[in-house]
Amino acid sequence: MSLALYRKYRPGTFAEVKGQEHVTEPLRQALRTGRINHAYLFSGPRGCGKTSSARILARSLNCEKGPTPDPCGVCESCVALAPTGPGHLDVIEIDAASHGGVDDARDLRERAFFAPVAARFKIYIIDEAHMVTREGFNALLKLVEEPPPHLKFVFATTEPEKVIGTIKSRTHHYPFRLMPPATLRQLMEEILGSESVPYEPAALPLVVRAGAGSARDSLSILDQLLAGADDAGITYARAVSLLGYTDADLLDEIVTAFARRDGAKVFAAVNRIIEGGHDPRRFAADLLERFRDLVVIANVPEATSSGLLDHPADELERLAAQAASMGPAELTRAAEVFNAGLTEMRGATSPRLLLELMCARVLLPGAEGGEAAMMARLERLERGGVVAAAPAAVAAPAEPSPAPRPAARPEPAPAAPRAEEAERAEPRPPAARPAADDWPAAAKPGSGGQPRRPEPASDPAPAPRVAPQGGALQHTWPQVLDVLRRRSPAVWANVSTHAEVIGVEGNIVTLGYSQVGAMRYFVNGTKDTVVAAAIAEVMGGTWKVEAVVAGSSGPSAGAAPARQAPPAARPAPSRPENAAPAPAPQASPSPQAAPSAQASPPARRQPAAGRPQAPSSQADDDPWPDAPPPDDVGGPPGGGRGPARGGLAAARSAANAAAQAGPRQAGATGWPDAVPGRTGAVEADEVDPDNDADADADALTGMALVQRELGGQIIGEIDHS
Ligand SMILES: [Zn+2]
Repeated sequence: MSLALYRKYRPGTFAEVKGQEHVTEPLRQALRTGRINHAYLFSGPRGCGKTSSARILARSLNCEKGPTPDPCGVCESCVALAPTGPGHLDVIEIDAASHGGVDDARDLRERAFFAPVAARFKIYIIDEAHMVTREGFNALLKLVEEPPPHLKFVFATTEPEKVIGTIKSRTHHYPFRLMPPATLRQLMEEILGSESVPYEPAALPLVVRAGAGSARDSLSILDQLLAGADDAGITYARAVSLLGYTDADLLDEIVTAFARRDGAKVFAAVNRIIEGGHDPRRFAADLLERFRDLVVIANVPEATSSGLLDHPADELERLAAQAASMGPAELTRAAEVFNAGLTEMRGATSPRLLLELMCARVLLPGAEGGEAAMMARLERLERGGVVAAAPAAVAAPAEPSPAPRPAARPEPAPAAPRAEEAERAEPRPPAARPAADDWPAAAKPGSGGQPRRPEPASDPAPAPRVAPQGGALQHTWPQVLDVLRRRSPAVWANVSTHAEVIGVEGNIVTLGYSQVGAMRYFVNGTKDTVVAAAIAEVMGGTWKVEAVVAGSSGPSAGAAPARQAPPAARPAPSRPENAAPAPAPQASPSPQAAPSAQASPPARRQPAAGRPQAPSSQADDDPWPDAPPPDDVGGPPGGGRGPARGGLAAARSAANAAAQAGPRQAGATGWPDAVPGRTGAVEADEVDPDNDADADADALTGMALVQRELGGQIIGEIDHS
């Protein structure tokens, strides 16, 4: 018969006690300096080394060379008090669970006054001290308060609060803690090493988890696994089945299914769990644990290498991929759903049903209105996932606009080749998170920034899609710029200063550049992917960013520059009939009225007033499609992005660009002429040249207006600053 591991490997000195350095170090120091108290209280969870430490303390105190922090191990006392030793006459262990009554206490009190037989001190180790009755403690009180010099007490308890205060206040209290998983794992590796047992490293985390920080529990479990181990040693498969954990493969499968919104796979997995006789609660707990790991990875990408997570390297890789496929907000929400669900599961009559409901909740963030659900949906958009998988009826009320639908279009196929391209291109600037890192790749247009047309095939319904997305982008462009500034100040400076969104078509965003040089800078390298990633971070989905020189014909014929349009206050030039240099303000009151009244009131705000408030975005996202009737088609810059920062510079460069670029869409001819007309009035706008914030708000109106005026889709806007 073999000795249990936790007994065989019980520490014999404080130096051997693992994971309790906060306790053992001061104790060793006290022994070293001889500042020894007459009573100690060791508290902490079970199996973390309290009783062992009490024995070590006794051994240290009674060593012939002691009191010493490092008992010699050879003297009579040390041998007797060794972990596997027979014990010593003068070191009395009392289990208060069975001997906690007042009579036992009185008995102890009487014996305590006798001097030790052979050792320096007579030491009472009172285990489970919280079980000592109140009367028992009171009987001991005087003794513990003023013990004879040969007497020492060590109370060990898992519930120090149950030890009466009068006793507690006479002790030195050392709180033990649960063992950190890494320490526990290291301990097990050492033990398995000295036992010469082969093992699969993947099995150890299971033991650590089952042991829940208790060294004794963990070693007992390890012992059990060892007992059942054949020549292969401790294997993951056996550990999983013995410990009742959900197999990691099953967890991988269900998390992947969640990431893909594959309800069929999710519920099939749940079915397999139940059919396999597993406990739904256990599975939910395991899945929650998995989500926890993923949340950590999603938030701390280096967690995989920093030891924050205790998993084998190959598993960490899988986890990182899973974290990237779901995204932090969705993961957090999933974890919350399961955490709440686990509480509900306690005592539930149908845990399976609850489990399935939890899965459904994770699958359908659209069904919930909370912030977490919103974030999850946003993230899914960002990943270009299938948001629309949520039943339309459920999702509809929450969905602001058809925006999510575009994301649902079959993206994966085109995305893959693009990702390859991205790899071929020069290394992207180190983006923050891995998840974020993926987006630029998917959104990358042709290398070198050459404008690429979207694959028409991937666009089931192009027409209705353009407007909502464009409108959304108008709203979020300032946020995109913020993100961009964070990701790459250089690209941000280039884009925010020289470029404007002149169009959105499908997932293609066209930036109009006022200067050829600035555009060259932009298209040189992979800056488009950086911008695409920034857009993706804010808007979701995958994006391509193309750059054109403002004034050159946009990516798609018929596109009209909208962004560089003059402020709403000066709509005059925009009117075709005002092609002649028309003094802005008073000109063409009717068109002026149209955008303001119909399109979107916020647009009329002056720059300082800021842009339309985000909260209203749902409503504001759509004004575009509702744009005024195409009666006064014509003026390209008409009412454009309003009072935004465009201003004088915008007007001027727009004129230049238009003059140089030649080919232009309808109404373009009138444009250069229109510019001078408003130059004077625009001066004031220059005050805030970088105020992108208002730009977008107003652009909305501009877009709507231009669309109305031109009767076409706007695919691009130009900013000139
Ligand atoms: Zn000794």
